[in-house]
Amino acid sequence: MTVNLLDFDLEGLAVFCERLGEKRFRAVQLFRWIHQKGARQFDDMTDLAKVLREKLKGSACITPMSVVSQHVSVDGTIKWLFDVGGGNAVETVFIPEDDRGTLCISTQAGCAMGCRFCSTGHQGFSRNLTTGEIIGQLWFAEHFLRAYLKCEERVISNVVMMGMGEPLQNYTALIPALRMMLDDHGYGLSRRRVTVSTSGLVKKIDLLALECPVALAVSLHAPNNALRDYLVPLNIKHPLEQLLPACLNYLAHAPRDFITFEYCMLDGVNDQPEHALELVQLVRAYGAGKMWCKFNLIGFNPFPQSGLQRSKPAQMLTFAKILMDAGITTTVRKTRGDDIDAACGQLAGDVKDRTRVGERMARQRTILLQVQTPEPVRQANNH
Ligand code: SAH
Ligand code: SF4
Repeated sequence: MTVNLLDFDLEGLAVFCERLGEKRFRAVQLFRWIHQKGARQFDDMTDLAKVLREKLKGSACITPMSVVSQHVSVDGTIKWLFDVGGGNAVETVFIPEDDRGTLCISTQAGCAMGCRFCSTGHQGFSRNLTTGEIIGQLWFAEHFLRAYLKCEERVISNVVMMGMGEPLQNYTALIPALRMMLDDHGYGLSRRRVTVSTSGLVKKIDLLALECPVALAVSLHAPNNALRDYLVPLNIKHPLEQLLPACLNYLAHAPRDFITFEYCMLDGVNDQPEHALELVQLVRAYGAGKMWCKFNLIGFNPFPQSGLQRSKPAQMLTFAKILMDAGITTTVRKTRGDDIDAACGQLAGDVKDRTRVGERMARQRTILLQVQTPEPVRQANNH
């Protein structure tokens, strides 16, 4: 059977080389050819013995996903749609800035978490991506961009798992992909520049802290359980009194000395001054006097079925000021790639829902359009 070498981190490749009767160190050469040089053909790997190249041709391949489309925004943002088979496609976005190049990667075809304000969430869930499909997005983008920009140097300096899907729900495939990003023989990214974003799977946050601590962003979106239950249904299972201690525990292992809280600003839902004041109380209650988090306010990016509105700029500024006056570093995320629907939460790809999530979301959309005000699933304490 032919194996796809994009699925292997360095250790996996070493085991594979041993199975071929080769020394483990051959894996380093192979890994560098694949990830640093972007090689696809074994015949291009000129410093590997011909016998080994023949063995590889008979047993392995380097096969990325095929690109369905590419869109380039006026601001330089590029969005790709990749075919992942079975009628599913996922999106990846490159965001160039003066001092960095960030790649936003998908980890699942769809998402089962059902957050109300998220386009992927409304589509339901099809399947987890494999390690090769996760790292393949970086492999493709890095080598494509080097050729496109005629650049010999590394183009992508930061990777954020903020595309389609909940990365920690696909933990087993994610970890080898993260290791490949960090590996000096691979992409050599610093842990501080690789960010996992999660809606709050607390047990997996604990595990990530031990197994592969990288920068952590947590999608908070609400200052209390009642509102968070409504916006991020996972909160019903893992409420704030579990999530915040998990974040604090993560800090002991994290490459940065803060957790980033993402907060999607929804007009009239979670953007009032009293919400900001409640957030200040919340992080103070858990921080024991220390400032341990930053806030990243994201203007809601609308999509047709959401029934929600973006907060007004003045509302966002007032909200940010309350947090900053309390000593909490707060940034308002710039929207990029608006003209190509590449902004946060707009990645829709193409998902063949194999769960009831998409159906449930459609039902809730109807109710939402009728009610228009949050109807919390559970009135919990305000922690
Ligand atoms: N599933 C992970 C990562 C993917 S979503 C998570 O939820 O963290 C990446 C970020 O985009 C999250 O903070 C998410 O809450 C935010 N987001 C989702 N939909 C959005 C929208 N329509 N507008 C703005 N941000 C959105
Ligand atoms: Fe999934 Fe994240 Fe979207 Fe929630 S915000 S539905 S966890 S991708």
